[in-house]
Amino acid sequence: MSSYRKSRKKDWLKTLIYIAIYLTVLGFTGIYLFLSYWYVWIALVAGGLLILISWHAKATAYHCPRCGYEFEISILTDFFSPHGVNRKGGWKYLKCPNCSNRSRMEILVKTTGKKAIRSQ
Ligand SMILES: [Zn+2]
Repeated sequence: MSSYRKSRKKDWLKTLIYIAIYLTVLGFTGIYLFLSYWYVWIALVAGGLLILISWHAKATAYHCPRCGYEFEISILTDFFSPHGVNRKGGWKYLKCPNCSNRSRMEILVKTTGKKAIRSQ
């Protein structure tokens, strides 16, 4: 069973770094690939985006403020649902699978078994 913890600034930084790397790679390869091999570049854009989103969907979970239920979402839901940041941290607008409440869910970070053992 996986457990969750509240997201910290470090988690946001990690996400931002991954996005920055992704954009940098696209920027550099774009210069060389776009004119002659634009389809390779498009594949790189799509592939990179898919990897980023699937990583994000797998690494995060959400907390319902109404019933306290903690749940994960699919890659598709992650891609299409609105999200943002407020003073309390990150949020994502989702429907709770437990109480059907639609609201801004608190973002949690999934801790894997290996990491949990290491940090103890
Ligand atoms: Zn709920």
